[in-house]
Amino acid sequence: MDYFNYKDNELYAEDLKVSSLVQEYGSPLYIYSKATLVRHMRAFEEALAGKKHLICYAVKANCNLSLLSLMKSLGAGFDVVSEGELRRVLKIGADPKKVIFSGVGKTRAELTLAVKSGIGCINVESEAELKLLSKICAELKCPAQVALRVNPDVDAKTHPSISTGLKGNKFGIAAEDAFALYQQVAADPYLQVSGIDCHIGSQMTSNGPIAEATEKLLSLYGKLEQAGILVDHIDIGGGLGVTYNDETPPSPYEYMAAVLKRVGGRDVSIYVEPGRAMVANAGILACSVLYLKQTATKNFCIVDAGMSDLIRPALYNSWMNIVECRKSNDPKILCDVVGPICESDDFLGRDRKLAVQQGDIIAVRGAGAYGMSMASNYNARRLPCEILVDGSAVEVIRRRQDFEDLWAQERQLAFDAEGKLLHP
Ligand SMILES: *Cc1c(COP(=O)(O)O)cnc(C)c1O
Repeated sequence: MDYFNYKDNELYAEDLKVSSLVQEYGSPLYIYSKATLVRHMRAFEEALAGKKHLICYAVKANCNLSLLSLMKSLGAGFDVVSEGELRRVLKIGADPKKVIFSGVGKTRAELTLAVKSGIGCINVESEAELKLLSKICAELKCPAQVALRVNPDVDAKTHPSISTGLKGNKFGIAAEDAFALYQQVAADPYLQVSGIDCHIGSQMTSNGPIAEATEKLLSLYGKLEQAGILVDHIDIGGGLGVTYNDETPPSPYEYMAAVLKRVGGRDVSIYVEPGRAMVANAGILACSVLYLKQTATKNFCIVDAGMSDLIRPALYNSWMNIVECRKSNDPKILCDVVGPICESDDFLGRDRKLAVQQGDIIAVRGAGAYGMSMASNYNARRLPCEILVDGSAVEVIRRRQDFEDLWAQERQLAFDAEGKLLHP
């Protein structure tokens, strides 16, 4: 459920008309609903009530500082996958103990910052990374909390690009190898065993895969317990799906119930790392119809947002719901909704039925996750503005880029007619 609804045939973000917001803040425009974010966070909290737990919002889904700050205020921890993301959550004043660091390719600098910051857990993904981490901790004479990201070899039954828990993926450590590595961690003077981690994929729409993964983690938990290695938390990763079209993912409650049922009475804390389920339906991308164009075979609805603003359709062939911001009785046309970028794959939706005219505002729903966080400056386009709506109040949480921003990090060398560098 979200708070983008129609009133009198007009799409609203909470109590504000989307078309008026576009008029005021420009197009394209990312619009987030605070009430939706709060609702999603509460849903996870309720799903885990009565059990020790930590909800680590996966920052990569949407890393805007204001959204992070909101999540922090609601009690969330954070799952980060780069130094940039770690610095973002430190910047908003997140409790380092509630931050966990995932990712298959952490650099020495990233591990060093994580150790020095005293974050809650480092999710190690290989023996080589474990060796480097051990060395860094010894050099700094500083302890670190460690979980191993286990690859449970479970099919998440989702898009291949976002499946991460199968044997052939680059992620995690094979379950068979994890036990020996945990013994290494336990014997290390600076490393402390904190948890067992996995993340098997994204946009999962059933409970089966996460239940199966939980069972594999619990079997390892039992083996470690027998060996006297005590684990403080089990981290089931992110991956709960959302409804883009007609998917019917479990609710956070049902999803966590499938996990908790298997964990039973074990005295272990449960960590979960939701990204998409937290923010996808809390955001829309509103944009304007520039032109309608008819060709021999197709109608095109050309809008001022493209793959630089929202790459999911182009990258994963994702289906995202595109709606008119003003509903009318005009005849619908069958069209491809495409952007202005010079790529044939620059589309937001194909074969859609929309009643639209030049100048109309349309919205892509479910754009809060992996929208702005994957946006780029391709075609020298400015990153869009982001706003946060709270009832009838609205705040800009990221201004639209200026053209000057596009080249602010560059140098402009000058050359003579022979191509020789001219010195200033
Ligand atoms: C991407 C990612 C997540 C979040 O996944 P969602 O599908 O957005 O919930 C959580 N944990 C890790 C390690 C990730 O890489």
